[in-house]
Amino acid sequence: MKPKTKFQKQIVEASKKLPKITDTQIQWAYRNCIEHIGHKTTKSVITCLECNHAWTDTTIMEHCTCPHCNTKLKIEKTRKRTFLDYEYLCIVTACEGFQVLRFFYIECKMKKGEEPQYFHSEVVQRWVAPNGKYATMARLRPMGFYGHEWSWWSDLEIRPERSLYNITPTEIYPQQKLIPEVQRSGYKKQFYNLTPFDLFSFLLSNSKAETLLKAGQTDLFRYFAYNTRKDINDYWASVRICFRNGYKIEKVSQWCDYIDLLRFFGKDLHNAKYVCPKNLKAEHDKYVKKKKEYYEQERKEEARKKALEDQVVFNEEKSKFFGIQFTDGLIQVRVLESVEEVMLEGDNLHHCIFTNNYHLKPDSLLLTASIDGQPMETIELSISEMKILQCTGVCNQNSKYHKQILNLVGQNIPLIQKRMSA
Ligand SMILES: [Zn+2]
Repeated sequence: MKPKTKFQKQIVEASKKLPKITDTQIQWAYRNCIEHIGHKTTKSVITCLECNHAWTDTTIMEHCTCPHCNTKLKIEKTRKRTFLDYEYLCIVTACEGFQVLRFFYIECKMKKGEEPQYFHSEVVQRWVAPNGKYATMARLRPMGFYGHEWSWWSDLEIRPERSLYNITPTEIYPQQKLIPEVQRSGYKKQFYNLTPFDLFSFLLSNSKAETLLKAGQTDLFRYFAYNTRKDINDYWASVRICFRNGYKIEKVSQWCDYIDLLRFFGKDLHNAKYVCPKNLKAEHDKYVKKKKEYYEQERKEEARKKALEDQVVFNEEKSKFFGIQFTDGLIQVRVLESVEEVMLEGDNLHHCIFTNNYHLKPDSLLLTASIDGQPMETIELSISEMKILQCTGVCNQNSKYHKQILNLVGQNIPLIQKRMSA
């Protein structure tokens, strides 16, 4: 990709001034990044695939050091004779006022009886300006292709951001060159399980990051560097209250979650009473419960509002049928007269007559058949055709009175029809 912005052009120019990786650096990478193999046979002969020295050792082990070349080896007891390892090295350097992170792909093919074949290539450069602004130069890597072969190709060019450029290197080269802004930031070559890019971009983009690092608040630092969607500014007032009160935030993610909950309920985020809880988990859980109840209440109110609105429509269309009821002595059938009744009928018989809004269909009349006040089946009648569309009991099954109910309703259709002309 051709550089478009002034910033990108500046980086492309600066990148031309980066020195080539030195022999010392690359040899260090080969030795420290790659997992070297000691191949062990069933007869306990170990072959170092780095120098092909072989010796016998019957003790069981996972790692050892080659007595000949001093390489640390991982013991592999397998019939496999070729091995491939590829890793990443990160070199932290400075260039033209930028903090630069250079990532090298390091590969080694090992085969018993042959010299190991090493390969390296610089694949990604992250350029971070002193104000945290950044750009990436990288080779292309086809998505979804993570084969055991070399898979970075093309030239190093400015690239749009992709998460795959946020590399977790196997090793970071010990000698680092830092821009002055990083030198005075409290950075001590520690990464707190962050990728180098997450660390440096957070450190340079936000002065609060520096404050956290200098105060030794590494949990907070790590949390906000990693969770880039959380803005530290949203929590800063409360963080400062914690500092001032000597309050140790044990679980940062839970604490931030808790602060969000306090914010939701309009609590004072400058008040130590709230932001420095003695039992964080208990307070957190209390507010989680409170929020659930809040939403539950909201949902109920919504449903109630909807039911009231529905009731108006329902009355307009169906009130002329209200009051209809008939019986054969055992089964009582009557028209359902409110949205609430329909809802209750759905709950009692565990069917979807309410949730599917049958009561709002202009052509549907709903009746309930019951025995001694116990609902048996719900009947849906087509008003225009005056015929039964469905008649269903518990969980959409027929009750043992199904036929009797159908007969009873059928006989009384004229009663319903009468209301049409009224
Ligand atoms: Zn060796």
